[in-house]
Amino acid sequence: MTQALPRDALLTRLRAAREWDLAVIGGGCVGLGVALDAAVRGLSVVLVEAEDFAKGTSSRATKLAHGGVRYLAQGDIALVREALHERGALLANAPHVASRLPFVMPAYHWWERGFYGAGRKAYDLLAGRQGLGGTEWLSTTRTQQLLPGVQPRGLHGGVRYWDGQFDDARLALLLARTAAARGALVVNHCAATGLVLENGQVRGLHVQDSETAEALTLRARCVVNATGVWVDRVRDMDQAAGAPARPRMVAPSQGVHLVVDRVFMPGDHALLVPKTEDGRVLFAVPWLGKTILGTTDTPRSDAPLEPQPLAEEVQFILRESARYLARAPQRADVRSVWVGMRPLVRPEGDEGGSTKTISREHTVVIGRSGLVTVTGGKWTTYRSMAEDVLQRCMARGLLPLKAGGVTTQLPLLGAAPGKPMGEAPGEHLYGSEATALRELPGADRWLWRDGDGGLSEAMVRFAARFEMARSVEDVLARRCRLLFLDAAEAARQADAVAALLAEELGRPVDAEAFKALAAQYLRLPG
Ligand SMILES: Cc1cc2nc3c(=O)[nH]c(=O)nc-3n(C[C@H](O)[C@H](O)[C@H](O)COP(=O)(O)OP(=O)(O)OC[C@H]3O[C@@H](n4cnc5c(N)ncnc54)[C@H](O)[C@@H]3O)c2cc1C
Repeated sequence: MTQALPRDALLTRLRAAREWDLAVIGGGCVGLGVALDAAVRGLSVVLVEAEDFAKGTSSRATKLAHGGVRYLAQGDIALVREALHERGALLANAPHVASRLPFVMPAYHWWERGFYGAGRKAYDLLAGRQGLGGTEWLSTTRTQQLLPGVQPRGLHGGVRYWDGQFDDARLALLLARTAAARGALVVNHCAATGLVLENGQVRGLHVQDSETAEALTLRARCVVNATGVWVDRVRDMDQAAGAPARPRMVAPSQGVHLVVDRVFMPGDHALLVPKTEDGRVLFAVPWLGKTILGTTDTPRSDAPLEPQPLAEEVQFILRESARYLARAPQRADVRSVWVGMRPLVRPEGDEGGSTKTISREHTVVIGRSGLVTVTGGKWTTYRSMAEDVLQRCMARGLLPLKAGGVTTQLPLLGAAPGKPMGEAPGEHLYGSEATALRELPGADRWLWRDGDGGLSEAMVRFAARFEMARSVEDVLARRCRLLFLDAAEAARQADAVAALLAEELGRPVDAEAFKALAAQYLRLPG
């Protein structure tokens, strides 16, 4: 059932004097996956997210549920097999926000068709019964039919294979809300500011509500740090003042995406170039009515909340897109540019440098204080990462023993057959909850229209009542993905969304901060 989650009630529960089994810091896919799994196992769980659910990396992925063909080439068979299994679970548990997606790899050298096809056949074999469709070798004509936007000059056919794609921020919200429906207390806009330490052991958290600045202390038997690229900051919280700095666990790597209209790549197939001139991967993926172009892999030494693209990254994506698309997108065609940071686990003794070869596997570390830190991995494997974290906590006696495997076949809220993710956003993304959505005022009043979907007044009300949205950004960046699809259009909707939110939340809501953010998503450097 669609459950109202008023903030007052969440904070009242947060204030209650009690000891939780588990406190999770960080509401990206990893923290939310841990909270959901633990709640389903019957543990008492609280999760705090400093900003909004998926505000960090988990809303900025390429949005592919994939085994990672690239890792197959690196010989990491176990990682690929696990991810392919997880791809199947993700698509089955959240069919309203995830779908299978056909990819075409165009061949421009005589040997590429055979080479890429053989690799994809191995991928199919690893997927086994979880396969989403067989790999096919394509003639030049068929390649052009499936990828009408592809550069025809020098084309030698192609290879088609299947993977999955999803709406990352909405999937994260579904994890949060499903965990809440299972009894977990999940609170956004509430940061962990410190750890409660007793005799050197972690016994809970200090947190602060960002809206009122109210400080609270939560007691918990086990604390999991799932803060992505920010895990080292939380790890430092159990350090005594003046203690020598610990080696960093994370090597952040930035990835940029550019969004353009579908005219540049019509059709429902994605394009993958596995090796561009400088050895990188290029994707052109249909997503929610637009085309996503990306991405890059640029090491960073810092971890800002809103990272900016580098001129070189934007040039790379536009230059390579121009080589593979018949109609080359120009800077003025970019509707939105967004940047995410991969939390890559730093190999011991690593001093920085290229991040392309760092393993995408995750790491769980339990410190001397008992603080459990998890990072690395990828969106596709969030569920198995959560199982691994809980198993490690139980093995160390930090949590009572409870049987696992409870989320493999756990439909998330609203789970119902949906549409392909390439189609414009609309009511279908709410699955069976579309009925509750349509009962709200303004279901047929559209703020923004795209095909037979878009953003209705009712969707803003739904975001405030049931999806814990607190700001214009929460609505336009993550409940509706307009900021990521068309930042100028998102800015145009800011005032109307602020007015509706103000009505729902019973307090003034600012639109100006969001407009400034939207301007950043339109700004191309260089
Ligand atoms: C460009 C790019 C493309 C990608 N594409 C794919 C893809 O196609 N498929 C795939 O499977 N994976 C992909 N990934 C990887 C995937 O997105 C990440 O591995 C995953 O989102 C990381 O999730 P997380 O929960 O660890 O981190 P995050 O999503 O960053 O979550 C951490 C959260 O912790 C919060 N936080 C920080 N400090 C505190 C505090 N003190 N108190 C409370 N909360 C705090 C942050 O606000 C944040 O929301 C991609 C990554 C990038 C960068």
